[in-house]
Amino acid sequence: MLGGMQDYELKVTHLIDHAAREHGPRTHVTRWADGSETRTDWAGVRRDALRMTQALRKLGIGKGDRIATLAMNHARHLVTWYGAVGVGGVLHTINPRLFEDQLEYIANHAEDRVLLYDAMFAPVVEKMKDKWTTIEHYICFDPTTVPEGQISDIGFEDWIGEHDGDTEWVDVDERDPCMLCYTSGTTGNPKGVLYEHRSTYLHALAGLQPQAFDFSTHSVMLPVVPMFHAAAWGIPWAGAMAGVKFVYSCSNEAEVLLELMNRENVTHSAGVPTVWLGIFQHCDATGAELPKLKQAIIGGSAAPRFMIERLMKEGIRVAHAWGMTETSPVGTVGAPTPDWEEKSFEEKVAIVQMQGRPVFGIELRTVDLDDMSTPLPRDGKTSGALQVRGPWVVKRYFRADEDAVDENGWFDTGDVGIIHPDGTLQLTDRTKDVIKSGGEWISSVELENAAVGHPAIAEAAAIGMPHPKWDERPVLFCVKAEGQQVTAADVIAHIEPHVAKWWLPDAVEFVEDIPHTATGKISKKDLRARFSDYVLE
Ligand code: ADP
Repeated sequence: MLGGMQDYELKVTHLIDHAAREHGPRTHVTRWADGSETRTDWAGVRRDALRMTQALRKLGIGKGDRIATLAMNHARHLVTWYGAVGVGGVLHTINPRLFEDQLEYIANHAEDRVLLYDAMFAPVVEKMKDKWTTIEHYICFDPTTVPEGQISDIGFEDWIGEHDGDTEWVDVDERDPCMLCYTSGTTGNPKGVLYEHRSTYLHALAGLQPQAFDFSTHSVMLPVVPMFHAAAWGIPWAGAMAGVKFVYSCSNEAEVLLELMNRENVTHSAGVPTVWLGIFQHCDATGAELPKLKQAIIGGSAAPRFMIERLMKEGIRVAHAWGMTETSPVGTVGAPTPDWEEKSFEEKVAIVQMQGRPVFGIELRTVDLDDMSTPLPRDGKTSGALQVRGPWVVKRYFRADEDAVDENGWFDTGDVGIIHPDGTLQLTDRTKDVIKSGGEWISSVELENAAVGHPAIAEAAAIGMPHPKWDERPVLFCVKAEGQQVTAADVIAHIEPHVAKWWLPDAVEFVEDIPHTATGKISKKDLRARFSDYVLE
C-alpha cells in the first residue's frame, strides 16, 4: 500500500527554484582575480543557469553528459553548477591543483564533454588539451583576459548571452546523478564519487541545521573552501535552501579575504586550517583585527588547538567538521553540547578540537583495526577503524565493478578514531599512518597537534620508522616558523604533557618543508619516500 502524499522528487533544481522565488534579491558578490567585482542575486543565478541549459542543448549536451569546471569560487561557477545539473547533466568539478597525470586520468575517465575554465588556468588547459580525449568544447569564464585565438571557443557571458532563459529544467529522476567528484588518489588512481539529486538534496538539508552550518536568511557566507574540492562541503547547495548571501573571492590572500569579510558583513566562512593560519599571520603582521564572524567552519584536516582558542576568544563559534569526498562530504560537525554553559573555556576548546557529532542521516561506528569487523564500544577510549553509512555516502565508485561497502552498507573511511558516549568523533589517525609500537597504536595526529602548539613550529608530521625492538617508533618532522629558533629537546618538552610517555617521538628532525598533496594536506607517503633510508639511532 502506498501512502497518500505527493510524488515530489528530491531534485537539486528545487533548490535554485526555491532560492530564486523566496530569496530572489539576496546578493552574490564576486571578487575576481584582477580585483574587479561583480554582483548578481539568486534570481540572476537561476536565470543564467537556465540560459546555460539552452546553450548546452545547442551544443548537443544533455542528460547524463559530464560537464567539467576548472575554476575558483565565483558566481559564474555557481551558475554552472545549477546549469549543468539543470540540463540533466553531471557537474564534474576538477581540482586545478592536481598533478598532470591525475588531471589527464580524471577528465578522460569521466568522459567530460565540455570544460568551463578560469583564464588563470589557461596554461593548464593548454598543456592538457591534447591529452584530454573526450572534451569537445572549451568555454572560458572570463574571456577578456584570454589572449585571442586561444583554447576557448567562446566566453561564458557571450555563450549564455545568446539565450533568453525562457525554458524548463530537464526532467530527471531523483536517483539520477548530478555531480562527480574525484578523491585526490593518495593511493592509486583517483576515484570518482557520483552524487545523486536525492543524496545532494538530503545532504544540503542536513547542512542547514543549527548543529551544522547554522544557515538562515541572515547568513552571509564566504566559502574559502574551493568549489572544486568536495563540492565546497555542499555549501553552495545548502545556501540556496536558506537564501544565504554569498561572497566569493578568486584570491585566497588573507588581506583580500579580510577586506571582503569586513565590508560585506560576512557571518560564516569555511576553510581548511591553513586558510585560518594565513589570516592569523596577516593579522599579526599588520595589527588588523580578526573579522567579526559568527561561525568559522574548519575541516579537511584537524584544526589545531591554538587556532580554535584564538577564534573562540574572539567570540567566533568554531564548527570543526569531518568528512570526505565519499560522504558528499559532511559527516560530523562540532556544535555546543547541552551542558556547554557549565564548561570552562579549556573544556570547551577540548570539545571543539574533536571532530563533532554526526549530522542527522549519518551513522558512524568504529571496528577493531586488526579484524576490521568487530564493532568497538563508544566509550571515549577505544580507537578503531571508522566506518560510515547513510544516504549521501558512496556505495560504488564511478565505473567500478564492485561496491565499496560491506554487506550491511558500511563504508570504511580509512580513518582511525574514537567515538565518545555522546557520539562525538575524535579522529586519531589514518589507517595507513598510525604508528604501531610494540603491538600498540600511537596516534601520529596527536603528536602533530601537540607539536604545532609550540609557537616556533609552523608544521609537523609524525611517521613511524622501522625499529628493531618495537616494530615502529615515531619520528617527528618539523618546519620552524619563520625567524624562530627551537631545539628537538624544546619540542619534546612541549609535547610531553599532552601524550603518554611511550608515545614521545624517538627523534625530532627539522626540515625546510613537508610535502603536500594536491588538496594541501600533508603527504606522508611522500615524506616516507623522502626518508626511506632513515635509520633510528
Ligand atoms: P582527499 O584529501 O583524498 O581528496 P578528502 O578531501 O575527501 O580526500 O579528505 C578526506 C579525509 O580528510 C578524511 O578521510 C580525513 O582523513 C581527513 N579529514 C577531513 N576532515 C578532518 C578533520 N576535521 N580532522 C582531521 N582529519 C580530517
